[in-house]
Amino acid sequence: MNKQLNKRQRFNYFLMNLVSFASIFLILGVIVFQLVQTSMYQSVDNDLERLATDQKFIQHQLMKKEQLQNQSPMLGKLDGPPPNNFQQQVILWSADGKILNERELGSRLYDFQALKLSTDDLNKIANVQTKDSNDRSLQFRSIILPTEGKEDIAYIQLLVNTDPIKGTVERFKQILIICMIIFGLLSIGLSYFLSKWFMKPILISWKKQQEFVENASHELRTPLAIIQAKLEKLFTKPNHTIMQESETIALSLDEVQRLSQLTSDLLLLARSDSNSLTLEKTPVKINHFLNTLLLPYQELAIAEEKQFTIDLGEEQQLFFDKKRIHQLLIILLDNALKYTSSGERIIVFSTVKNSEWIIKISDTGIGIPDDKKAAVFERFYRGEESRNRKTGGNGIGLAIAQWIVDEHQGKIELTDTNPKGTTVTLRFPVK
Ligand code: ATP
Ligand code: MG
Repeated sequence: MNKQLNKRQRFNYFLMNLVSFASIFLILGVIVFQLVQTSMYQSVDNDLERLATDQKFIQHQLMKKEQLQNQSPMLGKLDGPPPNNFQQQVILWSADGKILNERELGSRLYDFQALKLSTDDLNKIANVQTKDSNDRSLQFRSIILPTEGKEDIAYIQLLVNTDPIKGTVERFKQILIICMIIFGLLSIGLSYFLSKWFMKPILISWKKQQEFVENASHELRTPLAIIQAKLEKLFTKPNHTIMQESETIALSLDEVQRLSQLTSDLLLLARSDSNSLTLEKTPVKINHFLNTLLLPYQELAIAEEKQFTIDLGEEQQLFFDKKRIHQLLIILLDNALKYTSSGERIIVFSTVKNSEWIIKISDTGIGIPDDKKAAVFERFYRGEESRNRKTGGNGIGLAIAQWIVDEHQGKIELTDTNPKGTTVTLRFPVK
C-alpha cells in the first residue's frame, strides 16, 4: 500500500474513532445531566405533593394564622410539623389576592411582594419567579390549593425555593463540562492509538496479498513463456509433421497441465483466504479409504524402484472431509515420491490412539534442514535442492496441506527420518 493511502486511511480511522468517542461522551453527558437535574427537581415536587396532601400540615398553617391574629398564647403548644424554613414557604391568600399571613412571613414578605395570585392552575405544581429586596431573582416550585370552608382564607400556596438546586445543577454542569473536555482529550489520544492498531493487521494482510499476487503472476509467467516459445518454434517449421515435433508438443502439454494445476491451487488458496470454503464431513472407514488412495502411489513407487510400505492399524470409522483429506495425503505422497530417489523408501503408517488419528508419511529422501522446516509451509517456497530437481513444483503443496489440517483442528509436524529423509506426522482429534 502506498504511504499516501496508508496515511489517509489512518486519518479516516482516527476521525471515525474520534467522532464515535465524542458522540458517546456527549450523549452520556447530556443524559447524566438531564437525569440529575430531573431527579433533583423531582424531589422538590415530591416534597410539595407530600405537603399538599398532608391535611395535618394544612390545618396547622390555617390555625396558626388565626392564632397569630388573636395573639393567642397557645401558639407554641400547637402540635404538628415544625415551623417552615425558608426552603418551604406557605402563603395564605384571600379570594381577592391579598396575602393574609404577612405577620408570619415577616421580612420575607418583601420577597413575595411582586407575587400575584394566579388561580388558573389550582392543585398543579408550577414554576414561580419573584425578586428579593436586593432585586435578585428567586425561583420557586409552587402549588396553590383552594381551602374550602374558610371564610377569609381562600387559597393556600406552598412554595419551595429552588435556587440552591439551581446552584448545585450549575456546579454539576461545570464539573461535567470539565470532565468531558478531559475525556475528549483522552479520546483524541486513544483514537490515535486505535487507528494505528487497527491499521496493523490490514497492512500485514495487504502486504501478504501483494506478495501472493506477485508470486502467483511470476509462477504463471514461466509456463506461459515456455508454451509461447514452443509454439513459436513450431511456426518456424511449417513442413514438419506432428510426429517430428512430438517432443515440443508434449513439453507444451506438460506446461499446460502445470498451469492448470497451479491455477486450481491458487484458486483454492484464494478461497481459503476468504473463508468461503466449508468442510463436508462424512463418516469414512479409514483403512479402506487409505488403501484405495495409496494403491496407485504404491504402483508408482515400485515403477520408480522405490520401496513403499503401508502399515495400517485397526479399521475405524471417523468423521472428516474425505475430499480434503484425500487432497492433503496426495500433496504429502507427491512430495515423498518427488524428493526420494530410486532405491529409497517410503512408509505410510496410520493408527487411532488416545483420541487421535495419527498418520505418518516417512521417506528416506533429501530431507529438510531444520532451519527450513517452518519456511516450507509458506506459499511458493521451494527448497534449493528441489528447485534443481527435474520434477517441477510450485511450492504451494504444503501451504494447502497446512490449511486443510487447520480446518480439521489437526496438527502437522515435520521431523527427520533416521538416518536421512523427512517424516510428516499428522494428528487429528477424534470425537
Ligand atoms: P508443489 O506446489 O508442486 O507441491 P513443492 O513440492 O515444491 O511444489 P511444497 O509441497 O509446498 O512445494 O513443498 C515445499 C518445499 O518443501 C519443497 O520445495 C521441498 O524443498 C520441501 N519438501 C517438502 N516435502 C519434502 C520431502 N518429503 N522431502 C524433502 N523436502 C521436502
Ligand atoms: Mg509438493
